[in-house]
Amino acid sequence: TTVFVSGANGFIAQHIIKQLLEKNYKVIGSVRSQQKGEDLIKNFKSSNLSYEIIESLSKEGAFDKALENHPEVEVFLHTASPATFATEDLKNDLLLPAIDGTKNVLKSIKAHGKNVKKVVVTSSIVSIAKVTRGPTGTINEKEWNDITWDEGLQNGLTAYVASKTFAEKAAWEFVETNKPSWTLTTVNPVFVFGPQAFDSSVKGGMNLTSEILLSLLRLKPEDPLPETDGYFADVRDVARAHIAAFESPDAAGQRLLVNSEEFNFRKILDIINKKFPQLNVVKGSSEKVKLPYVLDSSASRKIIGDKFIDLETSVYDCVKQYVDNN
Ligand code: NDP
Repeated sequence: TTVFVSGANGFIAQHIIKQLLEKNYKVIGSVRSQQKGEDLIKNFKSSNLSYEIIESLSKEGAFDKALENHPEVEVFLHTASPATFATEDLKNDLLLPAIDGTKNVLKSIKAHGKNVKKVVVTSSIVSIAKVTRGPTGTINEKEWNDITWDEGLQNGLTAYVASKTFAEKAAWEFVETNKPSWTLTTVNPVFVFGPQAFDSSVKGGMNLTSEILLSLLRLKPEDPLPETDGYFADVRDVARAHIAAFESPDAAGQRLLVNSEEFNFRKILDIINKKFPQLNVVKGSSEKVKLPYVLDSSASRKIIGDKFIDLETSVYDCVKQYVDNN
């Protein structure tokens, strides 16, 4: 079986590809430049992996040619989406590539993905929980964030939240309106941490969530801590969920909420201090994280399983990889 992965050089996507190749799938990844494609080939060293260059998600028909070149594709995993809060032009750099990108991908698949049976879109907890309003109560896969377009234009965070929410909505609407021959599943992860798929990636710029976690190593006692708290999932579990999303017959038409345990950055600092005392990082706190809401992902866990990598292991693996390679 051949699986297409958009945004193949991404943090999560590389772990997905790693697991796909381990399971003997053939993989075609899309990247934005030849350099990024060649880096993938060099790292994975697998004759089952090839790449297509797709420079812009926002262009209509962006994926037509890649799918025409590969009529053998049966599964399409759309992970590419701007994963940043730092941009000047919220509409054109964040909202539109996410939303139009998703619509373009699905249109191309419907028109040119002759053999596609399963489509998986990487969405987020932010399309489920009302993260910009301070979520409360018990939240499950049925819930939707009600963020508006105007709220989305307020700042980088709201734009990211709106980009994911509207992109996922567009995906479900596409299916509803066009009744394609394939099924849709979304994967909605919480904050994702964990090691990079390849040690060589820990030098230079990394994805947003890895940068935030590793910025703790450089924190001075007087610096403010990153304020985010919430639930975390390890990148390897998130990758596994993408595979269950097309392998499991029960996943069709579902949103898969992927979460391990609660975190805040004090807790993470506590773990780093315990595991790497030699790094002398700022002191954290061993107090249990108390959030004003609870995630109920029991429906998703029936599909993806209920064993998740815990925070301590995930933080350890990430920091260890960083320390060993810098
Ligand atoms: P990365 O930044 O590592 O990956 C993002 C991927 O999307 C890269 O391949 C990137 O390409 C591509 N991309 C971004 N913007 C565009 C664009 N305008 N046109 C084409 N391609 C683009 O982040 P992650 O691996 O963390 O994110 C992958 C997916 O997971 C995203 O959809 C993100 O929203 C979602 N997600 C991530 C979470 C997290 O905590 N990390 C949590 C929940 C969801 P390039 O390298 O060329 O920029």
